[in-house]
Amino acid sequence: MKIAVFPGSFDPITLGHVDIVERALPLFDKIVVALGRNATKNYMFPEAQRLAWLEETFKGESKISIAQYTGLTTKFCSELGAQFILRGLRNPADFEFEKAIAQTNRKLKGDLETVFLLTSSGLSAISSSIVRDVIRNNGDYQQFVPKAVHQL
Ligand code: ADP
Repeated sequence: MKIAVFPGSFDPITLGHVDIVERALPLFDKIVVALGRNATKNYMFPEAQRLAWLEETFKGESKISIAQYTGLTTKFCSELGAQFILRGLRNPADFEFEKAIAQTNRKLKGDLETVFLLTSSGLSAISSSIVRDVIRNNGDYQQFVPKAVHQL
């Protein structure tokens, strides 16, 4: 059974995240969308809210489950028996950042592969941080997020 973990903050989940997960579905038997708790990050939305949005967005898909974890992503993958980490790439900055994390993760757990999917054209400008800015300033953020997040 091929299990992938898609880790992130999802503060909030965007159409960019949804696209990566849906396109990865044919590659894996199971995808665990996992909300990681990072002590150094200040989140805009509470964890329970971010988890509820993930549950609602992916509720119709039996291959997808939602989880929350604290600590190293590699350790969480071991606990789940996941062999893959799934990440999205939007631009060169993502590449450099993701490369360092993926190489470190492989040092920590040699049999764990990170699989990258390129962002779909049209979605590459979407990031949770920009969406948060749009929300703070009362802009039309709905076009960037799945239905579950339309009502704040
Ligand atoms: P993190 O806090 O770990 O960066 P995010 O929730 O911001 O978590 O992102 C999780 C993953 O989704 C990352 O791999 C990120 O590159 C990817 N991602 C975010 N937005 C997009 C997008 N528009 N297109 C493709 N991948 C994306």
